Amino acid sequence: MKLLTFVPSFIKDAAKAVKRISQKEFKEVVDNTLTELLGIATLFVKMYALRREGNEDVLHLWCAHRDEMALCPRCGSISTDVYQEEHRCIRHLDVWCKKTFLHFLSRRFKCDQCDKVFTEELPFVESHRRQSTAFEMRVYQSCLTGTRKAVAVREGLSQSTVKEIFNRMAALNKSASAVGGTIRVLGIDEISLKKRHKQFILVISDISRKCILAVLPDREKQTLENWIDTLPPQTRKSIRFVSIDMWAPYFQAARNKLPWAKVVVDRFLDTWCLKAAGTGDKFLAKFLKTFRNWREQILNYFNERITNGFVEGTNNALRGIIRMAFGYRNFANFKLRVLAGFSTFHANPR
Ligand SMILES: [Zn+2]
Repeated sequence: MKLLTFVPSFIKDAAKAVKRISQKEFKEVVDNTLTELLGIATLFVKMYALRREGNEDVLHLWCAHRDEMALCPRCGSISTDVYQEEHRCIRHLDVWCKKTFLHFLSRRFKCDQCDKVFTEELPFVESHRRQSTAFEMRVYQSCLTGTRKAVAVREGLSQSTVKEIFNRMAALNKSASAVGGTIRVLGIDEISLKKRHKQFILVISDISRKCILAVLPDREKQTLENWIDTLPPQTRKSIRFVSIDMWAPYFQAARNKLPWAKVVVDRFLDTWCLKAAGTGDKFLAKFLKTFRNWREQILNYFNERITNGFVEGTNNALRGIIRMAFGYRNFANFKLRVLAGFSTFHANPR
């Protein structure tokens, strides 16, 4: 009965609320449940240590990265080439009222596209910070209702650290971006596994912050929708744009689950242009020049098709352009064909 003294007064209401949750809303506990609840889903916890430090127990979680890839902050392409690793330790939200630290390797990757080395960005901590964004957010919120001194004592931080965190989060809040679980631009990219070309995996990224949020095992609509469902409602609401490859299931998933977000296909074309430029083909080079001149009109056309929901048609049109671009060797014929295509674009003014 002694335990009852720890039960907070709101538990009666909470208990009622639990009864109202339908069984469908409960999710099965799987190996990544812990990190999802901790808000660090790109990691998994491999080991832990509970240490007596001073007069309190401190929890240390040793985490490994779930995926062997990162997004290049310069060109946005996916890199799997780990260049360097370094131990990093950050303070995170308390687990079971114990000060909690995350230990993991900070990874540097080498980008194939621009041949530069970059440090991977993570969705739960800003670069060079010693605390996770969620922890800093809590410090900030505590400061709104209490003194900085009290917050410093409770969290075991110096007052100058509390002040620095407060000022930083206040500034971030003002610009209303990149805070906690905010994803402004969601990127959905497919990559084919090197050894099995027919099999695709899906890379979900936060394009505004250039970091990978998840890697899904296939490119089925259901898989993507299930992942979107795991996002907290606030995070989902924060998504303004979804950047996709031209693959109808992505578009459908975005429309079903994030109907307020604008679907963008520009990156598909950017990637293609990069690939095309890389071939060194002079006909293609000429085509690219033409394409760049007409870019806005083409994209307007595609955006309009997408907002009208004719994604299949757009998909075919795009595939057609690519087939043409790679298939034509005679630039004059090719140009005629492309210009003929462009004139139909003008037949559909916005
Ligand atoms: Zn790059």
